[in-house]
Amino acid sequence: MASYDASKIESKWREKWAESKLHEVDLNDDSKPKYYNLVMFPYPSGDKLHVGHWYNYAPADSWGRYMRMKGYNVFQPMGFDSFGLPAENYAIKSGVPPRESTNNNVEHMRKQLSDMGAMYDWDKSVTTSEPDYYRWSQWVFLKLFENDLAYKKTAPVNWCDDCKTVLANEQAQDGKCERCDNEVTKKDLAQWFFKIKDYAEDLLNHEGLDWPEKTVLMQKNWIGKSEGCNIDFKLEDDSDTLTCYTTRPDTLFSVTFIVVAPEHPLVDKFVNGTEYEDEVKKMREKIYNQTDIERTSEGGKDKLGAFLGKYAINPANGEKVPVYMANFALMYGTGIVMADAHDQRDFEFAAKYDIPLKFVISEDGKEIDPKDFDAAVLEDGILFNSGEFSGMKNRDALPKMIKWLEKNKNGEATTNYRLRDWLISRQRYWGAPIPVVYDPEGNPHPVPEEHLPWMLPTDVEFKPTGESPLAASKEFIERTEKIFGKGWRPEVDTMDTFVCSSWYYLRYPCTKMEDMPFDKAVDDKWLPVDMYIGGPEHACMHLLYARFISMALNKLGYIGFKEPFKRLVHQGMVTKNGAKMSKSKGNAVSPDEFVEKYGSDVFRMYLMFMGPFTDGGDWNDKGITGIARFVDRFFGIISEKSEVKDEAALRSSLHKLIKKITNDIEKFQFNTCVAGLMEFVNFVMKNGIDDESKKVLVRLIAPLAPHMAEEGWSLLGGDFSIFDDEWPEYDEKLTIDDTVTLGVQVNGKVRGEIEIAVDANQDEALAIARANPNVSKHLITGNVVKEIYVPGRIVGFVVK
Ligand SMILES: [Zn+2]
Repeated sequence: MASYDASKIESKWREKWAESKLHEVDLNDDSKPKYYNLVMFPYPSGDKLHVGHWYNYAPADSWGRYMRMKGYNVFQPMGFDSFGLPAENYAIKSGVPPRESTNNNVEHMRKQLSDMGAMYDWDKSVTTSEPDYYRWSQWVFLKLFENDLAYKKTAPVNWCDDCKTVLANEQAQDGKCERCDNEVTKKDLAQWFFKIKDYAEDLLNHEGLDWPEKTVLMQKNWIGKSEGCNIDFKLEDDSDTLTCYTTRPDTLFSVTFIVVAPEHPLVDKFVNGTEYEDEVKKMREKIYNQTDIERTSEGGKDKLGAFLGKYAINPANGEKVPVYMANFALMYGTGIVMADAHDQRDFEFAAKYDIPLKFVISEDGKEIDPKDFDAAVLEDGILFNSGEFSGMKNRDALPKMIKWLEKNKNGEATTNYRLRDWLISRQRYWGAPIPVVYDPEGNPHPVPEEHLPWMLPTDVEFKPTGESPLAASKEFIERTEKIFGKGWRPEVDTMDTFVCSSWYYLRYPCTKMEDMPFDKAVDDKWLPVDMYIGGPEHACMHLLYARFISMALNKLGYIGFKEPFKRLVHQGMVTKNGAKMSKSKGNAVSPDEFVEKYGSDVFRMYLMFMGPFTDGGDWNDKGITGIARFVDRFFGIISEKSEVKDEAALRSSLHKLIKKITNDIEKFQFNTCVAGLMEFVNFVMKNGIDDESKKVLVRLIAPLAPHMAEEGWSLLGGDFSIFDDEWPEYDEKLTIDDTVTLGVQVNGKVRGEIEIAVDANQDEALAIARANPNVSKHLITGNVVKEIYVPGRIVGFVVK
């Protein structure tokens, strides 16, 4: 039997594909519908491409190839997210300057990607650390700045002491750095922000998007919309008003103290120059070293705070209540919270700092006393000691109390979001410089577009110290003074690399443009991306940022669409012995040796065979030989003569296979495609196969094993390339084993006959019945008011 010589055959076809520019897409070709098939691009770090990349990219390529054979003009670009920590950390470790090591890694990854044989259009690629790309990331910054969507503010921000940089909230979820897992603390720094919060409502709307439900939910939770009200508490000395945000105004009469977030500017205002200053500031330092989880967890021992020396007046009952700073108050809502015995954290804080408490809700509306309780009362019930609201169910009273507060000008209904503005400054070297300069008075000015790219200086030590490395560049300061004048200084922070990746999909169709980042007409034609494939860990980072940037550019008129990604699929994770693969754990599997030994197609199919694409699986090198044997047998069937024993059985099996593979690919179930092909090969070993059927078979495996399919197609006399040929169609009748002929009645009269599977379900039976021309003619005379299906007996419609 002819065996499949992977190394020879695969390189031969890759050369032919490259030489014939098979994967270069004519973006102006209107003869076919467009299809933009995109995977999240890799970071070129020292890790090179690992099995996880392959697991993601190879099936994504199979999908693109399938869509191409289905008749679409498929655009499938690839690039490199090459700024940022993975590349910079690798450079530091290896002692090679980041640009040099990044370029080496990009080259290596390009080679690995080319071994995969994916149909990337390398003519249209981006590398985000190249000046011809990052000038446009800077342009995006300038457009946001010009339109009041970028601003600089001093605020306590998330700091990772391991990465020596600040992080956006999205990159410090659960108080941990998304890069290194280090616990994040707070630091007061002047930083640049993008106003993503302005787009909270738009970002909550996922209408028309075919996205995993879980991802949509994660975004909604992260944005965290809540409906409540702001209530004003005047200070006793009338010097200020504390506006508290609450979703529970029904507890207003039980408020016995107010807590202010340590980050709130009022803290300094209240205590500076007072006897409280020392204690409060010491306590604040301590709190800043806590993670948000520690700050907000329940359990009395972690509650930290200090009295701010002020009292406020409860607008509901005129009572005087003390004002504290407390760790569990975050800069959410107004950053000031009214505190009472109906909240567990408040209860614990009051117990620790000896603040009196009272209840206003009980099961039956009878008075209860906190002294008899060791925890907050959280249950709904009847209000007492609540003025005119006493005796009402607390939930019923809630909207009435908001109205009452509004009438007395003590508060108003308010919507709040958990989402904060996006912090984009980074104190690291390897990123796009923020295109801002400061005049001698320290006022920021945008770098005019004519000076883009605002080049990243090279005369710096790139090791992170916590100070921005760019500050040490002589050339950077000289350049700034030369252009803007003496005493002017450049901004020395670089941009979060998530800015680079927030718009790259707009650049791919327009990589040759020099005067603009993209051409509106071209992008409006090619976007939104039809299929976007990448990891679920990006739900509340990249996928949120990219939607925001698209929406902002749309609002500013640069693009004609709001949403960047129409359909989204997340691949599962590949593990090794159940653990996430990582270089630091030493369990990362390199694809290279397997590709070399078994060939790219075998490796691709083996990964696909591990399990459903969206589930991932555990890597095990043993099973790959099984796939190698299957590919050999498959290739043998294609390349050798055989005699068909049962032609009808062959036709029926083949049409069933076409149907199965088509349906499974549509559902991204590549594993069952491979299983179906294996089963069919077993059948053919016994039954034999003719040349026409071989031509169908080889097209069915083409998306999954592109090199072997191209070779098989050529052996069968097919024209180059198999990927310019059509996806096979199946005859439904041939896929059905036991059929029955049924008469189709319309208003009691038989109007046609259909042949369907004995066990066809109602939807199938009715659909097939409707497709009968004579039946459909009678159906359109009125409205179908009733559908009848009794399996094996009758199909009918009542029309009025
Ligand atoms: Zn970190």
